Amino acid sequence: MLNIAANLEQINEEIFKASNKANRSSAAVNLLAVSKTKSFLLVEQAYQAGQRNFGENYIQEAVEKIQQLAHLPDICWHFIGPIQSNKTRLIAEYVSWVHSVDRIKTARRLNEQRAPNITPLNVCLQVNISGEHSKSGALLEDLPELAEYINSCDNLCLRGLMAIGAKTDDNDITRNSFKQMQTLFNQLQHQYPSVDTLSMGMSGDLAVAIECGSTMVRVGSAIFGSRN
Ligand SMILES: *Cc1c(COP(=O)(O)O)cnc(C)c1O
Repeated sequence: MLNIAANLEQINEEIFKASNKANRSSAAVNLLAVSKTKSFLLVEQAYQAGQRNFGENYIQEAVEKIQQLAHLPDICWHFIGPIQSNKTRLIAEYVSWVHSVDRIKTARRLNEQRAPNITPLNVCLQVNISGEHSKSGALLEDLPELAEYINSCDNLCLRGLMAIGAKTDDNDITRNSFKQMQTLFNQLQHQYPSVDTLSMGMSGDLAVAIECGSTMVRVGSAIFGSRN
């Protein structure tokens, strides 16, 4: 039987252990509960168990849940899926964070569509570290221009970088790419004081990600059960 509170406890324990092992404070690693395809009722259960940050991949599905759960104080929604140009308005309107910006055109639209009288939209740049595995994510050579552009946008706040690890069981491959992300993140942090977030690590590669400096791990199935 699905026990969301117990699953959350177990993931938080894993985060705690991995942080200790890496000589980091577990308070510096946030858990993003990825609730895509799952009912708002399950999100509410996770909320009741103390979870506050939730990640969604499909904006229309996200908007429904955001509206259904609008009464919950401090709930915080993150968009982590691929961004189609015609969906930027909903993203700009409904979420607090977006992790998957990988081109200037998207950033420009989000900046134009974010209301200037609310908190700026927190943005992580998605980096393509796994090459052939993913069509999403900016190329390394495009990062500086993209970061500079987002930093110049009044209604966006540049918070950091996001990466999806390669689909592999080989921890050394994962570690290499995550180490590369850590270096990029450190460089970005030196340039932009608002940068504090390295969104990296999922159910399968959480410990390696924390070892490599992740400040936000994104976990779905280990909390909410597998998706069909
Ligand atoms: C679905 C998804 C996750 C969570 O994956 P799980 O395997 O369910 O833990 C994390 N990050 C992104 C970008 C996702 O799309």
